[in-house]
Order: sequence, then structure tokens, then C-alpha cells
Amino acid sequence: NLSDKFERAFKVLKGQGSITEINVAETLKEVRRALLEADVNFKTAKDFTNTVKEKALGQNVLTAVSPGQLLTKITHDELTELMGGEEEQINFQGNPGVVLMSGLQGSGKTTFTGKLGNFLQKKKGKKVLLVACDVYRPAAIDQLHVVGEQIGAEVFSNRELKDPVQIAQQGISHARSNGYNVVIVDTAGRLAVDEQMMEEIERVKKAINPSETLFVVDAMTGQDAVNTAKAFNERIDFDGVVLTKLDGDTRGGAALSIRSVVEKPIKFIGTGEKMEAIDVFYPKRMADRILGMGDVVSLVERAQEQFDEEEAKKLHKKIKKNQFDLNDFFEQIQQIKKMGNMKDLLGMVPGMRKAMKGVEVDDEAFTPIEAMINSMTQKEKENPDIINHSRRQRIAKGSGTSVQEVNKLLKQFKDTKKMMRMMSDKRNMMNMMKQFK
Ligand code: GDP
Ligand code: MG
Repeated sequence: NLSDKFERAFKVLKGQGSITEINVAETLKEVRRALLEADVNFKTAKDFTNTVKEKALGQNVLTAVSPGQLLTKITHDELTELMGGEEEQINFQGNPGVVLMSGLQGSGKTTFTGKLGNFLQKKKGKKVLLVACDVYRPAAIDQLHVVGEQIGAEVFSNRELKDPVQIAQQGISHARSNGYNVVIVDTAGRLAVDEQMMEEIERVKKAINPSETLFVVDAMTGQDAVNTAKAFNERIDFDGVVLTKLDGDTRGGAALSIRSVVEKPIKFIGTGEKMEAIDVFYPKRMADRILGMGDVVSLVERAQEQFDEEEAKKLHKKIKKNQFDLNDFFEQIQQIKKMGNMKDLLGMVPGMRKAMKGVEVDDEAFTPIEAMINSMTQKEKENPDIINHSRRQRIAKGSGTSVQEVNKLLKQFKDTKKMMRMMSDKRNMMNMMKQFK
């Protein structure tokens, strides 16, 4: 899926020292390919990767994060922006407020009519009336009645009438005289965009002048979703999009291109067949989901706040000169702790959440390590090689640990030092943290 592809794309960058034209180009090519494969349309994907590139080039990479992580953050911000930035509201102005549903058959209009009704009743305290305007299939009217029963809302229908405009108008006046705040008008769709359907939904819209017109689209339909959205938008100029079937194996790509092609916000998502399976569309969350990289973004944000670049440079020099000692090791632990709870932090590293399953790690894990280092003499910290067996016994005793633990710490330190030296140009705090697993 798209997330896997992104993860692969960012692997190209992992462990490289700074963001340059060359390493970005490779990664962005992968990102663009991933977007295209997810049915994001070509122009959107191209514009998108160009913007990310411009923002990424020349950015300094901090010790705490890899260039890949920084680029992920930039990509994430850009994705969020592309999908609209902030979440959107629905307009219920009017007496009653009228929400009109539009979209192809099978896109999930009737189901979403129920979900939205349920949401408005429970979360917003509205009195909701559902109106059945799908006149072509008697089963469609029955379906809405079933939905209404499920959510405890009244359903207005008129099986005598064949004109959806008239039914909608009757429904609205029924709502007005019975104190309903919101009317949701469910309409008929067809399997493909056709003139009769367009003409009908246009007529209904003109006649009832809804406060909000929603276009419902199946997220699984990929590039077709974009074309359908375009066709509907040209005819009825809808206010917002509902992206359904975002549960299961779905392609987040539709969210991206619909927004950029029709320039209308996505307002809700459907994530299942149940009446509760509705969510407000949060661009930031969707970007998280598309990127699927844990919460790398907030890790980068926190790291940017906490890490002093001067300190990082000093450390880098020491590593290069092979002078990294237990004092620095201790210092690094303090830095990691400053960044926040260990468990939270490790959970943010892609792949780590899975690896950490069942493993308890938190700040406490550092306590014995700190105690052992504190029990060492300055000489020992600067030159751990002199720590022989009797010194180990003394350190264990002084720190309330065991010789085995001291041995383990010294080995961890040695491995870390070796590794840091090995990647002295690709320093990465995260690799050091893996030592504590
Ligand atoms: P309509 O023809 O546009 O009214 O579409 P329906 O509301 O009848 O939905 C068509 C099918 O899609 C039904 O089987 C629904 O249960 C299913 N469906 C609707 N929304 C979702 C969703 O968010 N997730 C999943 N998995 N199925 C959905
Ligand atoms: Mg229907």
C-alpha cells in the first residue's frame, strides 16, 4: 500500500548527513511513483514533490533525526496543506438546515445519510429528519427506513410521488412544521455519470437550495473518484466531499487528488458499514495515515526544539577524534530524556512500535545506567578501558547493581562508540537508542 511505498522511498535517505539535491532527487522520485501508484493524478504528484523539494533543500539536519525523518516531516506538512490544512465545518444555516447528498450509486450515500444523522443527533444535539428521494428502486426507500430505525430518526418518504423534487420539498416543509433542525436529503445515483442523473440532482439542488451539498465518493475507486468528483462539481458546485470506505485496504490517494483537482474540502470520511463509522476529516491525520510512519513528525518537532546545534557539533567532533567517553554517553542519555518519555519516543520511530511490542522501556531503564556512571571516577569515565574486575565490583556495589550489569553497560558503551564512529557522518541518535532495547 501507499504507506509501505513511502517507507521504502524514505529508506533511500536513511542515515545520510544532510539534505542535498542528489539524495532528495532519488527519494522524491520514489515518493512521486508512490503517489502515482496510489492514483494521485500526475500533476498533483508533480507539483507536490516539487514543493517538498524546494522546502527540503539546504535544511540542516539535527543530530536527533535523520535526513529521511526531516524529509518525512516536510512531506507530512505539505500533504496536510494539500488536503486543506484544517478540518471543515458543515453549514446548517436555515430553518431547517438542509444537507443534500449526491454521488454515484453504491458510493455510500444512504449509509452516510444515516451516519451523519446519527452524528448530528448524538454529537450536536440536532433534531434530524431523513428524506428518501431515490425514487427508482423501492428497495432504496426501505433501506433508508431501516437506517432511520437504527439511529432513531424519522424518515420522510412518499411512495406515490415519482418526482424527487416534490418529495424533497414536502420533506422540508414537514421538517419545518415539526421542529426539525436539519433535513438530510438522500438521492438516487447511477453506476456511472450520466445526463439524466446530473439533470435530476441539479434540479433538486435548485429547488431546495440546500445549506450544504455533499458529494459522496468511494475512496476505493481511485482515479475514477477524481473524474466523478469533477463531473459532479461542474454541474452542482458542491460544498464538500465525503470519502467513504476508507476502512480496509484503501488508497488514501483519492483524498489528495480530489482536493487539489476540484478544490473542494473533504469534510467527512466513512470507515465502515456501521452507523458509528464516521469521522470528521482531519488533513493532519490523513497525512499521518498516508505516510504511515508512526509519529515521526512530532519526534522531529520535539527534537528540533530540544537539540542544541552547537552541542551536536561538539559531539560530532569528539566522535570523529574517537574521544567519545562515558561522560558524553551520560550526556546523551540526558538529551534523550529531555525529549520525552522513552516509550513515547521509541513508539515514534518507524518500525520501532512493532519491535517494541511487549518490551517495557521508559525513563526508568536509564536509572541503573546513570547510577553506574555516577559511581565511576572521572578517570574511569574518560578511559573505560581501565575498568578492571575489581573496579567493576566497586562500581556495582556503589550503584546498587551487579557486575553483570556493569559489564553490560560497558559493552553497550563500546558498541555505541564503535557505531557512532562508523557513522560519524550519519550520526543518528535513534541508533544509539536501539542499544537500550
Ligand atoms: P448508495 O447507493 O450511494 O446509497 O450507497 P449505500 O449507502 O447503499 O452503500 C453501498 C454499499 O457500501 C453498502 O453495502 C454499504 O454498507 C457500503 N458502505 C457504505 N459506506 C461504507 C464505508 O464507509 N465502509 C464500508 N466498508 N462500506 C460502506
Ligand atoms: Mg442509496
